Amino acid sequence: MTLQHIKAHELQCRDALFARAKRIVIKVGSAVLTSSNSMNLEVIENIAKEISFLHSSGREVILVSSGAVAAGKNKISFIDDRDISLQEKQALAAIGQSHLMHIYDSAFLKHGKNIAQALLTHADLAHRDRYVNFKNTIFTLLKMGVIPIINENDTVATEELQFGDNDNLGALVTNLIEADMFICLTDVDCLYTANPGTDSTAEPVHTVVEVNEDIERMAGHSKSALGTGGMRSKILAAKKVAAGGGSSFIGPGRMEGILQKIFSGEMIGTFFLPQGRKLQGRKQWIAFVLKPKGILELDCGAGQAICCNGRSLLPSGIVSVKGKFNVGESVQCVDSEGRIIAIGTTNYRAEEIDRIKGSNSGKIQNILGHRESDVVIHRDNLVIL
Ligand code: GLU
Repeated sequence: MTLQHIKAHELQCRDALFARAKRIVIKVGSAVLTSSNSMNLEVIENIAKEISFLHSSGREVILVSSGAVAAGKNKISFIDDRDISLQEKQALAAIGQSHLMHIYDSAFLKHGKNIAQALLTHADLAHRDRYVNFKNTIFTLLKMGVIPIINENDTVATEELQFGDNDNLGALVTNLIEADMFICLTDVDCLYTANPGTDSTAEPVHTVVEVNEDIERMAGHSKSALGTGGMRSKILAAKKVAAGGGSSFIGPGRMEGILQKIFSGEMIGTFFLPQGRKLQGRKQWIAFVLKPKGILELDCGAGQAICCNGRSLLPSGIVSVKGKFNVGESVQCVDSEGRIIAIGTTNYRAEEIDRIKGSNSGKIQNILGHRESDVVIHRDNLVIL
């Protein structure tokens, strides 16, 4: 196949994936929503118009919006000129969130659309019941024809509860509600091969087949002043969505008609193709929300059995156990070279697995004095990476 053929094929994929996308998560960053430290009403009106257009075309749309801290800052003018502490940021988010929603409410009402607010912390999603409740509420809102608007619950989210940034939150939401596409609207046009400001050879990258080291390097470590992300966190979000089986788009949030343009095939921004089939919700939750608490090193046979034959993980294939974890917590499974091959939730505690590793399942009762299951990780709770 020539380079032209590959490019034509990528283009076809891009067009087909836009046409097929029925449930879409759109993330808008603070840098898009503000200009010289005040809320940019014109941009917000345009975004509401664009999202309403997609919604009216029969698609389900979920908006992940930053801008609470920026909207708060906008109201409390004396806080402008110095470094803001975490507590002050949380307070500003509390001030700004209602203001932000008020602006969205009026902007969407002009198009006859109702919105709803959902504020989340990482702990909400990591807790199975709360995650299921969140998902059910979002699905109910979508059925009611409402556009949910999600943000991090900044008032309570200190570091260990945080998503890190809203790019990550947007990717997690995309995967967890099994959306087809993640659209990240930002203040840059697209991904470039190098920094276009300093390198005249820099070229736009319109399609990414796989987020590999080269692509991550292209993203650099740039940050915009108002958001917490930057291109790198957007690329990592796109990688997460691709691994979950969805596609992503990163492009200019201020461009008029941006969504109508990309859905009608205009070559704008950067599009990321999915990697394989879409993972089912429970597996998305295990793979992307739970924070791994330990590592199981597997022998070659066990690696093959889980990766190639879709088997559960038996104690006999485990070589070593690292970390402290309880039943139901997530662990990474690695091969003898330390490469992560799977992630899953275990039926036994770390100390118990350490005692039964290398043994046949039939001996579990003898060794531990009890037997919850013949397998350490059931294949339904195992995600192959
Ligand atoms: N949640 C923050 C806000 O609404 C923004 C976080 C981010 O942009 O990553 O202001």
